Amino acid sequence: MKVAVLGGGPAGLYFAISMKLRDAAHEVTVFERNRADDTFGWGVVLSAETLDNLTRNDPVSAVWIKKHFAYWDDIAVIHDGVRTVSTGHGFCGIGRKRLLTLLQRRARELGVKLVFETDIADPKSYMESHDLVVAADGLNSKARGAFVDVFKPDIDTRKCKFVWLGTQQKFDDAFTFVFEKTEHGWVWAHAYQFDSDTATFIVECNEQTWERFGFGAMSQQESIAVCERIFAKHLGGHALMTNANHIRGSAWINFPRVLCERWSYKNLALMGDAAASAHFSIGSGTKLALESAAALADYVERAALKSGDRLPTERELMAALSVGRSTIREAMGRFEALGVTETRKGSGTYLLKPISAGTIHLPLSLNTAELRDGLLHTLEVRRGIEAEASMVAARRRTADDLRTIEQKLIEMERVHLATGTSGPEDLAFHLAVYDATHNPLFRQLLGQMREAFERFWDHPFDRQDFARRSFPHHRELFDAIVARDAELAREKTLKILEIVEEDIEEMSK
Ligand SMILES: Cc1cc2nc3c(=O)[nH]c(=O)nc-3n(C[C@H](O)[C@H](O)[C@H](O)COP(=O)(O)OP(=O)(O)OC[C@H]3O[C@@H](n4cnc5c(N)ncnc54)[C@H](O)[C@@H]3O)c2cc1C
Repeated sequence: MKVAVLGGGPAGLYFAISMKLRDAAHEVTVFERNRADDTFGWGVVLSAETLDNLTRNDPVSAVWIKKHFAYWDDIAVIHDGVRTVSTGHGFCGIGRKRLLTLLQRRARELGVKLVFETDIADPKSYMESHDLVVAADGLNSKARGAFVDVFKPDIDTRKCKFVWLGTQQKFDDAFTFVFEKTEHGWVWAHAYQFDSDTATFIVECNEQTWERFGFGAMSQQESIAVCERIFAKHLGGHALMTNANHIRGSAWINFPRVLCERWSYKNLALMGDAAASAHFSIGSGTKLALESAAALADYVERAALKSGDRLPTERELMAALSVGRSTIREAMGRFEALGVTETRKGSGTYLLKPISAGTIHLPLSLNTAELRDGLLHTLEVRRGIEAEASMVAARRRTADDLRTIEQKLIEMERVHLATGTSGPEDLAFHLAVYDATHNPLFRQLLGQMREAFERFWDHPFDRQDFARRSFPHHRELFDAIVARDAELAREKTLKILEIVEEDIEEMSK
């Protein structure tokens, strides 16, 4: 599989590593806009539980990461001079820069290609040239922005202001929250150790307090001087430091809470902060980025079924495809009849032949009688799923989907009117309808059944007019999808398939 990862932060690098670990033959490239050693921020916190998950996924990088961790067990809250400690949490901190350096090293070792200083403004050309594109390009993801109508991000810019600083004061016994009452209101800090001599020190306050201090008009050094004064009794004479010198102005920012209605579109998947952000007070953004990277790699691996693999259960297929039990049973019965699957009592249904473009519609043959039977068998399997796909597409299609389907339809009509036939264009139209279901399994199942067949036989029975009568019903199907009329979309699909069936019967005589 050819995979492009947009963004070389924790999510992108760890996904690339996880893909290579599952199959070294995957061709994985990470595109990062910065240079290898440019990064922002200080340390990040991961829980002991996350470290266990990382160890299960890749023991090698987990050992490297653990070697550089600062560990502690407690959370301490200092409020009005009173320190309250809660114990038994199991945290560890690591410098963000060090984490990225280790992940880059591991990725290279596994054969991932790392391409730096490449700013990806639009993912579309990568989607065309790769099987899978993972957008791990952070909070302000441009890839997410390119399909804003599909992903429907909900970005809530929180009101508090914060600045990400560091210090050499020790906070190595607890994840420490310090609340200080000032002449302008409350100001608080989130402090945690991430290597032997440095701790992250995030300072936060509400908008009004921030305005009253005049932080917006200050340089970074002026802001730091004020923060050092506010937290003087907790800093033990140590300075606060910035490493955001590349940011012009004060470096105070607001936290954007990002949620997306969808996380994938066609062969593009959002990951890490691009898909959803987690506030730094719960120290989970990197945890989520790393764990979801491993989970997506697992999913991709599981989706590629090999012969001998057990298929998902009826219930799982119903949920994944959003179709009824009878549709699944019908399709499974047909697959079994075709020798593609086998049901083993008490154990489940197993794949006997790999589901690939070359095998799903077996038997393949050049003999007319067998060709007829092969086409009819495929058609029987297709009918239920294809009718369901049209209904789902009518319900879920977006404005973008309609544009794509219509474009394919116009092309199909143009070629058909010019030449009297339009096989590949017809296929492209139907694939666009399957994509509008936003359920990749429809394209996988139906696309494979159709593509291989149509590649093999340009014109079944050597007849240019095969299925020609179904031509006008394609626009009717499109109109039904535009009108969100699922029942009509189903009816038009069945009509098209009925004509195909009649032609198979008639032309094979
Ligand atoms: C103040 C603060 C403190 C935090 N503390 C913690 C903590 O203690 N624990 C924790 O788990 N998390 C913490 N986080 C969150 C954590 O930093 C993020 O959740 C995590 O980095 C997300 O990883 P990511 O790979 O998705 O995105 P990022 O780390 O943002 O990486 C995205 C990458 O994509 C690159 N990129 C962006 N746009 C493009 C483009 N157009 N083309 C090519 N490359 C591009 C960027 O340069 C970057 O390298 C904190 C965040 C903040 C702001």
